[in-house]
Amino acid sequence: WFVDVDKSARQWKGKKQSLKQISLDVVKSGDIDIIPDRFKKNYFHWMENLHDWCISRQIWFGHRIPVWYCKTIDKKQLTFNQCDPIISIEKPKQCPQCSGKSFEQESDTLDTWFSSALWTFSTLLDKPKKNDTLDSWIKRNKKKGTDLDLFHPTSVLETAYEILFFWVARMILMTTYVMGEVPFKTVYLHGLVRDKLGRKMSKSLDNGIDPLDMIEKYGTDAVRLSLVIGTTPGNDMRMYEEKIAGYRNFVNKIWNIARFILMTDSSDRRSATPIKGRRPSDSDAPTLADQWIQSRLQTLIQEVNEHYNKYEFSLAGEKIYDFLWHELADWYVEISKTQSHTLAPEILLDAIKLLHPFTPFITEEIYQQLKSSKLIDAKDEFLASSKWPEEKRSTKRSPTPIKGRRPSPPSVEKIKSDFKALQSLITTIRDMRAKYNLPYSEKLDAAIATKKHKDMFQEQELVVEALTKVRIQVLPTKPVEKENFIKAHSAEFDVYIKINAKQIEKQGQQIEKEKQNLEQYIASLEKKLSNKNFTQNAPKEIVAQEQKKLEDAQSKLKKI
Ligand SMILES: [Zn+2]
Repeated sequence: WFVDVDKSARQWKGKKQSLKQISLDVVKSGDIDIIPDRFKKNYFHWMENLHDWCISRQIWFGHRIPVWYCKTIDKKQLTFNQCDPIISIEKPKQCPQCSGKSFEQESDTLDTWFSSALWTFSTLLDKPKKNDTLDSWIKRNKKKGTDLDLFHPTSVLETAYEILFFWVARMILMTTYVMGEVPFKTVYLHGLVRDKLGRKMSKSLDNGIDPLDMIEKYGTDAVRLSLVIGTTPGNDMRMYEEKIAGYRNFVNKIWNIARFILMTDSSDRRSATPIKGRRPSDSDAPTLADQWIQSRLQTLIQEVNEHYNKYEFSLAGEKIYDFLWHELADWYVEISKTQSHTLAPEILLDAIKLLHPFTPFITEEIYQQLKSSKLIDAKDEFLASSKWPEEKRSTKRSPTPIKGRRPSPPSVEKIKSDFKALQSLITTIRDMRAKYNLPYSEKLDAAIATKKHKDMFQEQELVVEALTKVRIQVLPTKPVEKENFIKAHSAEFDVYIKINAKQIEKQGQQIEKEKQNLEQYIASLEKKLSNKNFTQNAPKEIVAQEQKKLEDAQSKLKKI
């Protein structure tokens, strides 16, 4: 049995057209969009060269073709009557041509892709009634509020690019013919999952990864993340255990952030030292960090929405990942330990909503815990069915006006640049601690010389101290050098950390030790390079490499 693809078979957009014409039209006209775009070319190539479709298969597993042949014998001729085949799911009662009652069903089964092509609408229909024709069956199912009415055409079909022709094209062909409408509006094609070296996973190579094993070991959320982040539509992706393990670390990180926020009850914060120069009634007014995290969250919501709208799932995931880890956890949560209040629970709630499609399990669990902790005002039974975070349109203004603090709230741009300077100051001090081997157990003092950020740094003294264990004094110019300082210079400020005689001595010892190590290293390299046996016999690149090492070490020694 064949499907004739060139016969004018159906009324479509006011004209009787063939299956081939209709299938081409729906993509050309944009009724169906294919992502990524380049696969439209493949689709057109296949469909323009479409031949009649043989749907008969000589295999056991499949839908048996619902065609019946009349097996009534003409007693004079002693042959079967030559009646037309009858199409019917059930065995016909009587042959309309010869009134015979003997039939035999076609023994072939339908091509797998013919059966799969029925999927888009057949899953939404009820059971056919006894006297239903195809038309009456569909008409009954199109009534308002039925599954078919609500979900057909479906919005997005997601599949691998390798079955664009086998499955996607056949669904389009079948559904437009049977239903008179497209099966879906958008086709999103993903790539194939390959191994670490980019090879196809196969039994003979034994390079497959069983998702169930990985889920057992790293959790479902980590496996999902590793399949979504770092992939682009239509391109193959590499999957390997270390990658999944990496995302397990991120899932753990989210869990730890949530645990920390949940365990830090607001009553613990009452004892936090109020920030200098603020009236007591101001203690709950938003701080720079509050304003910054709110504006960052707003930007994140906008960006994630844009990425989701463009099916850029990986980019959306990466941005949520960076926000949670490198902004909320690394900065805001740390800073809010110094505040008498925190927005962390609310910010976390919106962030886990954005992340929910990627890691549904851990985010739902965190939501339930946040809800029962009463840290947030949440009424939805599940995170999955809660409202998507709201995108506040005006980003030019301050996220929350501050009452009685400043005549007009600072702009988002000002908040961003202030916070960036604060981050830069804290990072600079931390780098100095690392560079000069100053352990955090030793509390230090520093002078910060800045004109631009004088007031802001002064306001943030306690934040800087909490995050660096360095007490700062903000000055408009550099300090009078009566004491010993280590210095760091930047375009907007200079940092002078005071160190005492003992620390200087320790520094000296460390430098001396480093110097000795370098000298020994240089001596060994020089010895190697003066050995003719080595320089003449070893490959040129190796000799050059050793020479380079020597030069690097010598210049390092000079600096010391
Ligand atoms: Zn017959």
